[in-house]
Amino acid sequence: MSCLKPESAQPADAGQDGLDYNAYAQMQPRLPSKVPEALRNGRPVKDANRRPEGVYRPDYNTLTPHMRSPEYVQMSTAAAISLGLVQGKMYGCDCTRCLNLLLTYPEGCRANCAYCGLARHREAERDYADRNFIRVDWPAVSTDEVIDIVARDVAGSPFHRMCISMITHPSSDQDTVTVLKRWTDRIDPDAIPISILSNPTTMTRHDVQTLRDHGADIFTVALDAATPELFDRTRGKGMQSPHTWAKYWEILQDARDIFGPKKFGAHIIVGMGETEREVMQLIQQLVDLGGHSHMFCFFPEKGSLMDHLPATPRDQWRRVQLARYLVDYRDVRVEQMKFDDAGRIVHFGLSENELAPIIDAGTAFRTSGCPGKFADDISACDRPYGDSPPSNIASYPFPLKDPEIRKVRSQLGMNRPGESYVPGEEFDGA
Ligand code: SF4
Repeated sequence: MSCLKPESAQPADAGQDGLDYNAYAQMQPRLPSKVPEALRNGRPVKDANRRPEGVYRPDYNTLTPHMRSPEYVQMSTAAAISLGLVQGKMYGCDCTRCLNLLLTYPEGCRANCAYCGLARHREAERDYADRNFIRVDWPAVSTDEVIDIVARDVAGSPFHRMCISMITHPSSDQDTVTVLKRWTDRIDPDAIPISILSNPTTMTRHDVQTLRDHGADIFTVALDAATPELFDRTRGKGMQSPHTWAKYWEILQDARDIFGPKKFGAHIIVGMGETEREVMQLIQQLVDLGGHSHMFCFFPEKGSLMDHLPATPRDQWRRVQLARYLVDYRDVRVEQMKFDDAGRIVHFGLSENELAPIIDAGTAFRTSGCPGKFADDISACDRPYGDSPPSNIASYPFPLKDPEIRKVRSQLGMNRPGESYVPGEEFDGA
C-alpha cells in the first residue's frame, strides 16, 4: 500500500528571520534556466512514442508513454485512490469528494509559474506526466475509463463534484470542451456538478460561454498571486511566462456575467509575499462581485522555482483563513477588521464572544473551494495534503475535532481560558 507520505517540510511555524509572516522582500523566486533544445516541448516522449498501458503511475526512472488529452487525463493521487485505480491510504479521510481531472500533453504546460510543479522550466529535468503538483503525483489514465467507472454507479460515487483543470497549451480550450461533453453524455451534471479551473491566457468570452452551455456549474480563475506585482513576479514577465493580471481579470469578469453569483471564484495562494491586508482586500472585492475565494497555503513545491522559500507560517495562514471565512460566509467586511503596520490582522471585526463559536466549529480551517453536497461552506474539493504535510496541516480535509481546534487556537494565539494545546495530541490514537 502506498500512502500520501508526510514530507520533511521546512518548518511552517516561522517565516524567514523569525517573522510570523512571509514578507515580499524575502519571497523572491529563482529565475528559470535555459532548457536544452533536445528536451523542449516533450520531444523525448514524442520521439520514443511509447504506447500507454493501463494506469500510468508517475515514474521518472522509466520512459514516459505518449499520452495526450482528450484521450488521457491525469488525476490527483487522492482521486485515483478514491476511484480504486491506485491503492493507498490518506491520513484522516477515506476518500476525496472532488474528482480533479488535469489535462495532459507531452509538451506540458507552456507557462512558467514560479511556485508550480508543472511549470515549463521543469522539462529540463522531468517529463510532464511525471511532475509532482500540489505535493503529490498525478497518475494518468484513459478519459473513457474514468468516465466508465463513475458512470457505473453515479448514486454511489464518493464524488460530490468533478473539476477539469486546464493548463496553458494550444489544445487546452478545445480539449476541455471535449472532456466535458464526453462526461455529460454519460453522467448527469446535476448528479455530480462540474467545475472548470480555467486557463484565462488562451481563452475568450466565447470559450467561457461554451463551457457554461455544455453543463459546467462553476468557473474558477487561478489568480494565485494576490497583487499585480506579485502576479508579474511569480507568473508573468518576471518568469518568462505568458500570463497577465489584466487578462485573468477580464476572464473573471466574463465568468461573473456568464455563470452568475456564487458560480465563479478565484484561487489565491496565501504567503507568497502579499500582506494580510492585501489578500483580505482582494477577498472582499471577489465577494462584492458575487464570487468566492478558494485559498491555498503557500508550500515550497519540490522542483519549483520557489522550493527554497519557507512555507507560510501557520499563524499568518490561520488569521487569513479565519478572516476569509468571515467575509465569505458571515457577512463581515474587511473595513470592520483592523491591521497593524505590517498589514497583519489584529482584529477580525467581531467580538471574542461572537468569534468563539465560529472558531470552535472548525469549518473556517477546512480546505476551501467549490461546494459539495454537505453544506455551502464545506468544499467538495478537499485536496488532501495539497498545501501541507499531514504532520502540520494547513487546510484540513476532514472535520476538526477538539485537539485540532486547540491546535488552531494556539496558532492563532487565541487559547480558551485555562486550556492549551499539547504538541502532537491530535495524533494520539490516530
Ligand atoms: S499555468 Fe497553472 S499549471 Fe501552468 S505553470 Fe502556471 S500554475 Fe502551473
